[in-house]
Amino acid sequence: MKILIVEDEPSLREIMQRALKEEGYVVETAATYFEADAKIAGYSYDCVLLDIMLPDGNGLRLLERIKALRKRENVIIISARDSIEDKVSGLDLGADDYLPKPFHTAELKARIKSVSRRGRNSGDGFALTLGNVALDPEGNRVWVQEREISLLKKEFDILVYFMQRPNHLVDKSVLAEAVWGDHVDQADNFHFVYAQIKNLRRKLAEAGATIEIKAVYGFGYKLVLVEPE
Ligand code: CA
Repeated sequence: MKILIVEDEPSLREIMQRALKEEGYVVETAATYFEADAKIAGYSYDCVLLDIMLPDGNGLRLLERIKALRKRENVIIISARDSIEDKVSGLDLGADDYLPKPFHTAELKARIKSVSRRGRNSGDGFALTLGNVALDPEGNRVWVQEREISLLKKEFDILVYFMQRPNHLVDKSVLAEAVWGDHVDQADNFHFVYAQIKNLRRKLAEAGATIEIKAVYGFGYKLVLVEPE
């Protein structure tokens, strides 16, 4: 799961970043409206934590941008101004939740889990089973033919990414960016992607999975259903 923190206050931003990384999330940050706008336009996140008062703009305008771009990010507004107007206009504009400052990081984590669960319940693109493979994104668990298999964290993240997009051609760099974030060196990413996908394919095949991550030469990968033997 990938999260964007939009917050201009450095110490709060760092506290949130550290807490969410501990949860195993991929976390990116933006300190200004300008920076956040570029990230939202160029990348995809599962959840955006949005401060309203930014030095160069209003966070509510970013929320409008997210909705106008028809992105499926969950948005949680984090605002120092615990005013009814902010809360009402934020929720009116389509925010999923509102968390007034100051808050405890445990509360933030709980809200993130709650909005992502809600998104899944409304059938919002989270495929949890495909063929004989089932997974629980929150519990980090995978079953093949109802037997649990063990995956490393990044192997798991890659599998979640593919299971949300069956039969879609996934570009290597898009996958690397989604699973590792945009702050890691791209050349290293490709090497990691290759190694992790190789291990993931082996584990799925050994367990008798009826899905397979196929390499598409020159482009990337695609998750497909295969006939059981
Ligand atoms: Ca602020």
